Amino acid sequence: MLQFVTVARDMPEKRPPQLRREDFGEIYADYAREKAAQQAGRCSQCGVPFCQTHCPLHNNIPDWLRLTAEGRLREAYDISQATNTFPEICGRICPQDRLCEGNCVIEQSGHGTVTIGSVEKYITDTAWENGWVTATRPVAERAECVAIIGAGPGGLAAADMLRRAGVQVTVYDRHDRAGGLLTYGIPGFKLEKELVMRRVAQLEESGVAFHLNCNVGTDVSFGDLRARNNAILIATGVYKSRDLPAPGVGAAGVVRAIDYLTASNRKSFGDPVAAFDSGELNADGKRVVVVGGGDTAMDCVRTAVRQGATSVKCLYRRDRANMPGSQREVANAEEEGVEFVWLSAPRGFVGEPVSGVMVQKMRLGAPDASGRQTPELIEGADYVEGADLVIKALGFEPEDLPGQWGAETPEVTGWGTIKADFHSHATSVDGVYACGDIQRGASLVVWAIRDGREAAQAMLDHLNRKTAVAAE
Ligand SMILES: Cc1cc2nc3c(=O)[nH]c(=O)nc-3n(C[C@H](O)[C@H](O)[C@H](O)COP(=O)(O)OP(=O)(O)OC[C@H]3O[C@@H](n4cnc5c(N)ncnc54)[C@H](O)[C@@H]3O)c2cc1C
Ligand code: SF4
Repeated sequence: MLQFVTVARDMPEKRPPQLRREDFGEIYADYAREKAAQQAGRCSQCGVPFCQTHCPLHNNIPDWLRLTAEGRLREAYDISQATNTFPEICGRICPQDRLCEGNCVIEQSGHGTVTIGSVEKYITDTAWENGWVTATRPVAERAECVAIIGAGPGGLAAADMLRRAGVQVTVYDRHDRAGGLLTYGIPGFKLEKELVMRRVAQLEESGVAFHLNCNVGTDVSFGDLRARNNAILIATGVYKSRDLPAPGVGAAGVVRAIDYLTASNRKSFGDPVAAFDSGELNADGKRVVVVGGGDTAMDCVRTAVRQGATSVKCLYRRDRANMPGSQREVANAEEEGVEFVWLSAPRGFVGEPVSGVMVQKMRLGAPDASGRQTPELIEGADYVEGADLVIKALGFEPEDLPGQWGAETPEVTGWGTIKADFHSHATSVDGVYACGDIQRGASLVVWAIRDGREAAQAMLDHLNRKTAVAAE
């Protein structure tokens, strides 16, 4: 009788399908009070806070580090939350090596950065534990209504600011849960979903109304929302996955990163996910190849490891130094057994369902107009990399909003993002604002939060102007 056994092909042992926290210590490294105080105490209070300058929210990092070192956590929290709507989220998922921590003078002098993100996370986790984080109670209610399209970090940050000012806020989202990519994009091992849901509940308690499962453009028109509201914020993010125009790309087993990550996140909520249960979007027992070198690719490879893939390889057409993803994430992935295949690009896919990726080797040529070296093909260096699941993580572009929303949509740029002023976030249509990825292109949570806060302030100014004119 034939017997089938699963052979681990490249990795020494198969990961347990159920993530055990102790396997991935660095992610859950919870800071005890002593560790947070010790790290915070390492801040030299240099007086030239590059960390603060390079934080998109310009958080007052030196002050909350000093207060943490002195054990004055309540005050540290008050300062931290004054500039950041979701500090516990940023503390977990900001690429600190490219922002605050990468510019810490102690890091620059070769002594290792103060772990700013972890201290920020610790301060806010402590605030939640102690009941210091509460729902908003506006001093006075205002009559004006505002619609926010998109419940990602940009939309939610704006909702929070507008609600604090007493404005009536309704957030529309096509998903069944709020949070945007915090909920369905970023994996749970980087950002626990209960933290996102806790923030959504806090906003609901503050009086923000959520209309979920509501796709603006089909379930309600953009024109209707304009007619019913005094101002609108577009915070819809970017969701059109870039594709690979390569032979075999339509084969079963070649999937988009957003579908793969959404399925995994839905599963962690306990939702029924047919495509996961059928194996289509599940890496368990498979040789996985992820194509791309950004943070989404890093999330895919690390999710595949946790799902029990037998091998996980990441193909990227440039080299390590030129990849867009965080170096810290690459190091984490390597530590977990992911193999990076640099200077390699897919030329096509073999098999139906897929059984391999045709890989072409590249070298870096002359710099292009942006100064980045262009990858060039090395003729005759192709080979086939075996794969049972290929995940395309090549980045995202805006959807065609004018096509979906019609003539009233604000002007868009050549890239399809909404054209809006970078400070006021005002678009070409009076009373309509835009923030986050749909304005700046695929970016970061912390930038979406900053945009949302700025847009909310500009919307308040707009409402105040209209009220003043009406009173004349
Ligand atoms: C896999 C992945 C991992 C990432 N990891 C990180 C990370 O570790 N750190 C980091 O800082 N950044 C990360 N990012 C980037 C970050 O998630 C985004 O920059 C950020 O979420 C953008 O926020 P946003 O509010 O503009 O949009 P989104 O978070 O995308 O939210 C937009 C919301 O709008 C809704 N929507 C869209 N169209 C409509 C419509 N027509 N009607 C109703 N609702 C609509 C969507 O359902 C969604 O909920 C990651 C991105 C991805 C894809
Ligand atoms: S918000 Fe991000 S960049 Fe700013 S201090 Fe926190 S972790 Fe650093």
